Amino acid sequence: MSKLNLRERLDDFWVYPKLSNSRHRRSFEDSFFNFVQEPTSNAPLNLYIHVPFCDSACSFCPYYKLGVNKFRDFNAEYLDAVVKEIEMYAATPYFQQHKIASVHFGGGNPFMMSLKDYERLIGTIHKHFKVEINDNWSSEGTINSVKSVDYMKGLLSLGINRVSFGIQTFNEDVRRKTRIKTSIDQIYSGIDKLKTAGMDYCIDMMYNLPDQSIETMISDLEKVTELDPYHIDMYNLAVFPNTKLDKQIKNKKYEISPSQENQLMMFKIGHQWLMDNGYKQIITSTYSRRQQEPHIGDLLYLTNNNVLGIGASSRGYVDGHVYKNVCNLDTYITEVSEGRFPADLAYKSTLAEHHDRKMVFFPITMKIRREDIPDYERFAPKLETVVELGLAEWVEDELRLTEQGLIYSGNISAYLMNETEWTAYIKSFFTSLKEKTNFYNEDYMGINFVPERQLQQANS
Ligand code: SF4
Repeated sequence: MSKLNLRERLDDFWVYPKLSNSRHRRSFEDSFFNFVQEPTSNAPLNLYIHVPFCDSACSFCPYYKLGVNKFRDFNAEYLDAVVKEIEMYAATPYFQQHKIASVHFGGGNPFMMSLKDYERLIGTIHKHFKVEINDNWSSEGTINSVKSVDYMKGLLSLGINRVSFGIQTFNEDVRRKTRIKTSIDQIYSGIDKLKTAGMDYCIDMMYNLPDQSIETMISDLEKVTELDPYHIDMYNLAVFPNTKLDKQIKNKKYEISPSQENQLMMFKIGHQWLMDNGYKQIITSTYSRRQQEPHIGDLLYLTNNNVLGIGASSRGYVDGHVYKNVCNLDTYITEVSEGRFPADLAYKSTLAEHHDRKMVFFPITMKIRREDIPDYERFAPKLETVVELGLAEWVEDELRLTEQGLIYSGNISAYLMNETEWTAYIKSFFTSLKEKTNFYNEDYMGINFVPERQLQQANS
């Protein structure tokens, strides 16, 4: 983006570069993954495992997930494929060099898995990788799926020491309207189980939800604070085009619709409320009274270290090799079982693009040291503009976002993207609009009605 545009507040960019069907399709047999045959760096590695099953259907959800029936019929086969994919990477000269510094199970709803399933996956990781983790095994899941105290104790004994789940809001009306399945009783009963088991937890909350007033949001923050989570992630509701939620908003189904004005106002008020109540902002969306520094997994990800994404729809970034696994359970299982890396999108970044990525992510961490800015001369003019506009300031040798900069961190990231990526980003957005896909994965998750023909194309 050539100009720093502050007309609209943008969300943080957690995906960069964004791979798209139109530009980055690969054949499963091509040579992209040959790089794993060469041992190169031994940078610490973040391992992400996607569990694509969920028993809920939140109307805002863009993630690749399948329902309870698919879980029942395919979970065992899926886990076989995940184990095999881990083994395929671990057997390569490249990954034998790397130490795993952080593991996260995401989804979907990983808590649908049994303890035996977790045990199998964690055992596979330990067996095949050098694992050097102190306290960074985490799993997300829905709080209604916390089966029992023993289930959580079991996860603890396997090494998972923190779980995260979304509450989003405590307001019954807003929960119903956004089709959040878990009841308020289930939230409190689930948290009791976590506490009894001694499992620490992080909670996702949202602002700018349909019919969520400022009073509702403040009440949400008061209630979530009472639960004393390790940290709170506070996200703006991202409305993806073509989704059911998007259509409901356009059809004016709500008295208060998510909007630019609301998200800006709610962010400012929510942020101030958390500050006034003793919270520290750890990264742009994360607040805590207990945590002092970003989680190692976030830090590795945001500072251009390696992320090995495993499972259907997972994204990976390994020394500039960007890939996204196929968003289709059958294809994922077939490709892995036939011994191929199951990424259908891939791209090898140039060194300049690798540097761009670091700068696009830096606003999320809210600061960067001068010595950590790659290719400083190239970024200096843009950084000067950011400083001149009062969005960041130099404190000795560190560039830090100001209060104003924290509000517009996503805009600063967009400004630091190179022009080609930004244009491609916009183009991919309009392509999704036209093809009626969900922009996040360019698939049909959360889309209300998908004509049979499109489904067949998507699955082919
Ligand atoms: S947001 Fe989470 S709980 Fe809701 S449908 Fe998506 S994966 Fe499931």
